[in-house]
Amino acid sequence: MTNTSFSSLNLNPDLLENLSSLGYDTMTPIQALSCPDILAGKDVIAQGKTGSGKTAAFGLGLLERLDVGRFRVQSLVLCPTRELADQVAKEIRALGRRRHNIKVLTLCGGVAVGPQIGSLEHGAHIVVGTPGRIADHLERGTLRLDEVTMLVLDEADRMLEMGFEKALDAIIDRIPKKRQTLLFSATYPSRIQAIARRIMTEPVMAQVASTH
Ligand code: ADP
Ligand code: MG
Repeated sequence: MTNTSFSSLNLNPDLLENLSSLGYDTMTPIQALSCPDILAGKDVIAQGKTGSGKTAAFGLGLLERLDVGRFRVQSLVLCPTRELADQVAKEIRALGRRRHNIKVLTLCGGVAVGPQIGSLEHGAHIVVGTPGRIADHLERGTLRLDEVTMLVLDEADRMLEMGFEKALDAIIDRIPKKRQTLLFSATYPSRIQAIARRIMTEPVMAQVASTH
């Protein structure tokens, strides 16, 4: 049987403490299935319904991997909407709060670009954003992703439905090939399978069947 205790994951003690102060006592099924492979550095496709705890599954991976002393964008999380990006950034900050100097920056459309450029000049460890605005910053030369070692596509099915495929391709082109790629989705249609084949290396599948 899969072990559902976070302590089985060999996490940094600060992360374990944060998990327990958030009231996360045991892993959800998708976390139990995907976290060991995520923490082992493998490419993972995780499919599970909304509310199954996918954010913490990749959030722990990002935080465990992060080199806080290196103030560069090391992880990029792409989300379909600003609301989701804000939620993801909030959860990553909460999971990482005992390590004080972690900077998580959100870059989404629908808000002015100027202040984002200012924030980028100050630097960040983790960027969470929507594909259109991230691609925009890459084109402007205000964001560099050449030190990214982890890429997360969150709600990949919705990003494709929203027409972000071209922006995704443009972004992925600017990230080193030697990286860990994680893809999270509520559904796993053929378009997602095709993008996974293009951008991932020997991905492991973590699927939790819907109960209804
Ligand atoms: P998904 O991305 O799969 O839709 P979320 O990551 O948004 O799901 O998580 C849904 C809710 O479950 C959030 O409120 C989150 O705080 C909570 N949660 C995540 N993991 C755990 C856990 N291991 N124990 C308790 N609550 C959790
Ligand atoms: Mg989610």
